[in-house]
Amino acid sequence: MINKEKQKLIALLEEIGDVVFIDSTEKAFIYYFSTLDLQGVSSTLSDVHKFDSCYKSKYLEYIEIFFNELKEKGIEKLSVYKGKCTNCFKGQGAITFVDKKSGQYIDLVLSIKYNEIIDISECHAVKNHTCFDKKLRLNIIDDRPF
Ligand SMILES: [Zn+2]
Repeated sequence: MINKEKQKLIALLEEIGDVVFIDSTEKAFIYYFSTLDLQGVSSTLSDVHKFDSCYKSKYLEYIEIFFNELKEKGIEKLSVYKGKCTNCFKGQGAITFVDKKSGQYIDLVLSIKYNEIIDISECHAVKNHTCFDKKLRLNIIDDRPF
């Protein structure tokens, strides 16, 4: 029979375990994306899920082009801000990646389940918690056929 203290401790450990665990893939993705590290981003995505309606290999091609375009502009790192989607995934957390010098940015909503990124969506209605200049929206996928 499990006593109360033990039960409490197990519940606590499960909670911490989950939080750290669930947090980690998302954090890794954010870190790698903000440092324009394609290999790193790749390591956080699975072959099973679709990202913005694309399988991983296709999505990574888009990201590679996106990263290269930034690098050609002399951008090597993006700042990260949290926000919230106010439309498509209303209320869901969103991440803004921004080059603070030029104000070029992209807003992404990451869907996470069991420590896996199961979808990534470009969001056009993010409200950030902090104020900063958002001047030019960038897109990962802008030649969408639909
Ligand atoms: Zn949205």
